Amino acid sequence: MFDRPTLIRQLQTSSHWDVIIIGGGATGLGIALDSATRGFKTLLLEQVDFAKGTSSRSTKLVHGGVRYLAQGNIDLVKEALYERGLMLKNASHLVSNQSFIIPNYTHWDMLKYTIGLKLYDFLAGKLSFGKSIGINKRKTILRLSTLKSDKLKGSVVYHDGQFDDARLAINIAQTAIEKGATLLNHFKVEKLLKNNDGLVNGVEATDAETNLTYALNAKVVINATGVFTDEVLKMDNALAKNSIRPSQGIHLVLDQSYLPGNDAIMIPKTDDGRVLFLVPWHNRVVVGTTDTLLDSHSLEPKALDKEIDFILQTANRYLTKKVTKKDVLSIFAGLRPLAAPKDKSEKTKEISRSHKIIVSDSELITITGGKWTTYRRMAQDVLNKAIALGKLPNAKCQTKNLLIHGADGTVNKSQHLYIYGSDQREIKKLIGEHPELGEKLHQRLEFTKAEVVWAIRNEMARTIEDVLARRVRILFLDAKAAIEIAPMVATILSKELHKNDEWRQQQISDFIEIAESYVIKN
Ligand SMILES: Cc1cc2nc3c(=O)[nH]c(=O)nc-3n(C[C@H](O)[C@H](O)[C@H](O)COP(=O)(O)OP(=O)(O)OC[C@H]3O[C@@H](n4cnc5c(N)ncnc54)[C@H](O)[C@@H]3O)c2cc1C
Repeated sequence: MFDRPTLIRQLQTSSHWDVIIIGGGATGLGIALDSATRGFKTLLLEQVDFAKGTSSRSTKLVHGGVRYLAQGNIDLVKEALYERGLMLKNASHLVSNQSFIIPNYTHWDMLKYTIGLKLYDFLAGKLSFGKSIGINKRKTILRLSTLKSDKLKGSVVYHDGQFDDARLAINIAQTAIEKGATLLNHFKVEKLLKNNDGLVNGVEATDAETNLTYALNAKVVINATGVFTDEVLKMDNALAKNSIRPSQGIHLVLDQSYLPGNDAIMIPKTDDGRVLFLVPWHNRVVVGTTDTLLDSHSLEPKALDKEIDFILQTANRYLTKKVTKKDVLSIFAGLRPLAAPKDKSEKTKEISRSHKIIVSDSELITITGGKWTTYRRMAQDVLNKAIALGKLPNAKCQTKNLLIHGADGTVNKSQHLYIYGSDQREIKKLIGEHPELGEKLHQRLEFTKAEVVWAIRNEMARTIEDVLARRVRILFLDAKAAIEIAPMVATILSKELHKNDEWRQQQISDFIEIAESYVIKN
């Protein structure tokens, strides 16, 4: 079902849609799923690939946000904790319960975080992930063998969720398609269409693979393009002022030896007043993040030297094992949309993590802000808004208890294929039928050739980058290894997609150009 040619045919034979969504990140995909399950004829168009933007570049947390609790934003934390609980139930193969340890160096901090985290537990109510507890210095060091213990008083252990962001995006896309939606990657919206009254009634979009342009009509068009929001708002009104200013957050990926146990570390206050996480992820450690205002956005944001230095310095202040640039396996940057200042006197401020819905005079609906954790609730709110505006007939949201593709209730993380959930059986079958597909892609990594074939046949991967960045995540786990195996992946892709050698060579050079920025230059 998740087959691009089949979905293109659906596009060619449908003249009218109820809902067209621009953007295939967490927000757009959540809307596509909600819309399809309410019975609306739904189309989603993504200019590159599902989760190409911020949605593959998160800290991988499914969380209420301890930071927002410290800021007194109780309603937001409560909403996110509720959604966290639903994500664990509905995507059990990809979301797991993760313990976090906050090391404390004063007795006052110990008391403050113990009380704060009790409130966090309380706000989660029945959907709690486990009680937070204070532990002494000895127990802290037993659990975090690489933590510096000088002046350590003890720590607070609390629970949140952890996930694979891009894989969840792919599985949400699959679920939406299974529920009747049409979703296409590598399909860019270039223009908005309007009726005689100046109301938006569709889009013009181009298939990047064929260069064919389509005019597509819909009752509602929803702009879910993250940091690209203003580009779509300007398609609506060329004179519209910028509403977004991007802020970059980067992550470094390290070998597991920097955090060998099962616990993550949360450093609640770095020198610049942010939170820094060290989180175990696919047998590596993700460390981040930063908050750097930029003047422009791009599809491939690049980490700045000062951001890299800041994370290394902060990590080294807490870890006994020294980390240097050459120890970094991969580095990735993501952009959050901040509300741009209205005039020079106003400061840039973060669009509230509780999302924002804007209805333009032309009735284009834009949704921005929020977080991965609240993607389902954002979708519910934006479709309720379209219904309240009279643009869609009344229909209730169906996603609260809806299982995401792959969810099978059992997670055995010791098994490499666990992230595929119920699809594991099919991948194993593929290997059984073609034992050569059981070979590893790279000696340092557990991923197999079968997963590449699976991604192309069943997960709409069309390029090396689609495969290595968002299906098997190797680019994020070990960028040098990703570059080394690019030719092998290109060969599998060209065979599966019936492409010639010129296409294959172009793929390799396109991928290497992108992948180079995930490798730190010493
Ligand atoms: C550094 C960082 C860490 C984070 N960590 C967490 C975390 O741990 N947990 C959490 O819950 N949240 C986290 N977040 C927030 C979360 O990642 C975002 O809220 C979420 O991914 C935003 O999704 P989105 O769909 O709105 O935007 P995006 O993922 O950026 O998606 C927008 C999509 O629109 C597409 N697009 C743009 N223009 C067009 C067009 N013309 N035609 C077609 N497609 C188009 C883009 O290609 C892109 O794929 C983090 C954010 C950042 C920046």
